[in-house]
Amino acid sequence: MTMLSDYAGVVGEDVIDHLRQLAAPLNGMKIVHVNSTRQGGGVAEILSWLIPLQRELGMEARWEIITGKNEFYQCTKHFHNALQGAPALISEGLLKAYEATNRDAAEELGPVLRDADVVFIHDPQPAALLKHFPDRKGKWIWRCHIDASHPYRPVWKYLRGLVAGYDASIFSLADFVQMLPHTVYLVPPSIDPLSEKNMDLPAEEVTGVRGRFGIDPARPMMLQVSRFDRFKDPLGVIEAYRQATAFIPALQLVLAGGGASDDPEGEAVLAEVRAAAREDPDIHILLLPSDAHRTINALQRAADFVLQKSLKEGFGLTVAESMWKGKPVIGGDTGGIRLQVINHHTGFLVNSPEGAALRIRYLLHHREKLVEMGIKAREFVRQNFLTTRQLREYLTLMVGLTHGAEDRVRLG
Ligand code: UDP
Repeated sequence: MTMLSDYAGVVGEDVIDHLRQLAAPLNGMKIVHVNSTRQGGGVAEILSWLIPLQRELGMEARWEIITGKNEFYQCTKHFHNALQGAPALISEGLLKAYEATNRDAAEELGPVLRDADVVFIHDPQPAALLKHFPDRKGKWIWRCHIDASHPYRPVWKYLRGLVAGYDASIFSLADFVQMLPHTVYLVPPSIDPLSEKNMDLPAEEVTGVRGRFGIDPARPMMLQVSRFDRFKDPLGVIEAYRQATAFIPALQLVLAGGGASDDPEGEAVLAEVRAAAREDPDIHILLLPSDAHRTINALQRAADFVLQKSLKEGFGLTVAESMWKGKPVIGGDTGGIRLQVINHHTGFLVNSPEGAALRIRYLLHHREKLVEMGIKAREFVRQNFLTTRQLREYLTLMVGLTHGAEDRVRLG
């Protein structure tokens, strides 16, 4: 198990000491996080390191999940798409299933949630829990991981009704913030440099991953790692690849993805991707199990560079993951990707398959620039997007929320 002190080698002792000081006033507090899946997608990725670190820092942290039947996930997928701006007509039946699932979860999790000092509710899936706890003791925070900058208004109106009663909310970027009658914090996500997904790997494992999936080691390879979701624009990636191969026929594309258990649209999107790939032997579509962290790590390291051509993106952990491995990222000019990809420095921001194809050609024709951008990318992640920075911000806001009324807070 990774301990807090293990991060000192990456970020320095001072950062760790600071975290211990900040956590002192929170000692013994009961913290509960609720989301809708333990595996797959960025939220699960973050909670898997955050909970153990909060525990090590003296909090009684728990991770609970809300699960439902098919209609629940259909409804929450509509919420997700609508927050990202897609018009969605959600039937009464789906909304009822959503509310009933939250009601049942409230009953099941009742004792834990009622008693908690701080509750983090992640994304819309469990957002309706709050109204079942009029007698709550703790502070409840709605943590929105989604690009909600231009939500589809009718759906936002409904969701706003659910989240307005929270004590605070957290968004990843200022652009995403919606008017809410409570304090709103900005905390961009982060990656765990010591997890299986991001830790250093032996060189043989990195070279071996190409052989394992039939990728030619002698030819360039670019990668996108994503759930099969239209907002990740896998078809745009294939289009960019096709345009680039007109000039660089040796190029290979790897699209690695899997499903998240709370994402019902994946299969349909995967079928569209397969049709678009037209059995091109140089397009490798890899369906990976949700615990294939080490494989994804090796693929990100084995790639010449990485794409994340999303059309909407809350943050895009895959961007930070790839940059941490010294890879420049060609990313969609949207949401959290803009925080990470500093155009021409840590990668390129693009708005179309044509733009992506142009940047692909540039990187493959300017190898020295590719290496230089990769070095900058890794350093940028070290400074801004590692666990320790996000943990510091969470601790600070928790101290503020729970001790805000006091004149002074004694740090350890
Ligand atoms: N991921 C994974 N397997 C997959 C696809 C994605 O483990 O098949 C991981 C990916 O490495 C990243 C997270 O899931 O850590 C996805 O987070 P991101 O913020 O990029 O997108 P989200 O899925 O949350 O929209």
